[in-house]
Amino acid sequence: MANSQLLPDLEGFEEFFGIKVSTLGEDGGMVALGHHEPKRALAAFNAYAKSLGFTDLDDFSSFGGDWAKALDRIRTGQAVLRKQCEYAGRKDHETNCSECAQMSQFPWWMDCSPTVDDVDTFPVTNWEV
Ligand SMILES: [Zn+2]
Repeated sequence: MANSQLLPDLEGFEEFFGIKVSTLGEDGGMVALGHHEPKRALAAFNAYAKSLGFTDLDDFSSFGGDWAKALDRIRTGQAVLRKQCEYAGRKDHETNCSECAQMSQFPWWMDCSPTVDDVDTFPVTNWEV
């Protein structure tokens, strides 16, 4: 991949078939750094699910065993790393913001819906739930 040097080096990612993968959120989503062909991404997500102790990706994040349909859940896009919630810096931002507190508990916090104002975006491939 030509632009791989632009990808962040993040803690907790595992590499399968040359694709760096991690879980994203707590509802069965996954993310791969960079843009990848859907079948390759699906293979990497599946291998990652197995490494986590699941039978396969369907066991981790159910899609009814229809692997052709599973490809529809693969999306490429841009992401950005955040350290604070979107309200940080505003007058009405709470001092003890629970969202900011939650974000600070993780080594990184990835937002896969960056805005036009975000400059440090990088390409990702998502497994959507
Ligand atoms: Zn906040």
